[in-house]
Amino acid sequence: MLDGNRNGILWIISAPSGAGKTSLSRALIEHTPQLRHSVSYTTRPARPGETSGEHYHFIDIPTFEQMVDQGAFLEHARVFGNYYGTSEDWVKRQLLVGTDVLLEIDWQGARQVRERLPKHTVSIFILPPSTAALESRLRQRGQDDDKVIALRMQEAQREMVHYDEYDYVVINDSFELALEQLHSIVAAERLRLCRHTEEMRQRMHELLGL
Ligand code: GDP
Ligand code: ADP
Ligand code: 5GP
Repeated sequence: MLDGNRNGILWIISAPSGAGKTSLSRALIEHTPQLRHSVSYTTRPARPGETSGEHYHFIDIPTFEQMVDQGAFLEHARVFGNYYGTSEDWVKRQLLVGTDVLLEIDWQGARQVRERLPKHTVSIFILPPSTAALESRLRQRGQDDDKVIALRMQEAQREMVHYDEYDYVVINDSFELALEQLHSIVAAERLRLCRHTEEMRQRMHELLGL
């Protein structure tokens, strides 16, 4: 269905919880035209301040299972005991009209997406500068209790061992520098010859007098 011609790029950002992927993704999208965030479905309870349809679509387990059976997800995975999934229909509609889509998903989901849409996917792994910094960011965010933070620190290593499955790795030490690096990656990937088939063909026609 996606033919590789003038389709949007499917961006994947993964990171251990607290590494800064949400803050970086938000800042990236704010200053990047033609890039939209995919709102995942999850069975996790909403945190204070999170609204359904904006941060996630919050649904119950039976609804999630029904959506899995209907093939509604491009990928889905269990993370920290909760289920998360990406809407296939929404993502494909964006890519077809040439809009880039950003998925903030875990390594299991990233693998599934790469397998299903290899030509359309660019993946980036965000690392924290150190273990201590990761823990202090989780605390500073103030959204999870001690038990959840301890679990997320344990899970962090299980996520980070997969960093070498990604196309790019960015270390989020200085936020500004990490953001600049993300912008550079987006700019470079958008200039790749394979992304420009249609436009380039017309231009070459003109330049070569064909
Ligand atoms: P965060 O780590 O603070 O962003 O915590 P979240 O609860 O928002 O996300 C928990 C985990 O679920 C992260 O590893 C995300 O990458 C992952 N996740 C979120 N949405 C999806 C999704 O749609 N699909 C998959 N496979 N993973 C997701
Ligand atoms: P994630 O989505 O990966 O769990 P967040 O974007 O929620 O991470 O960031 C976790 C916390 O760390 C937030 O409080 C955020 O403001 C803070 N943070 C993000 N990047 C940096 C950075 N480069 N330096 C210091 N604090 C940061
Ligand atoms: P949180 O529940 O803290 O918002 O997210 C926890 C983790 O779930 C994060 O690491 C996030 O990347 C991952 N996640 C969020 N949405 C999805 C999704 O749709 N698919 C997958 N595979 N992971 C997701």
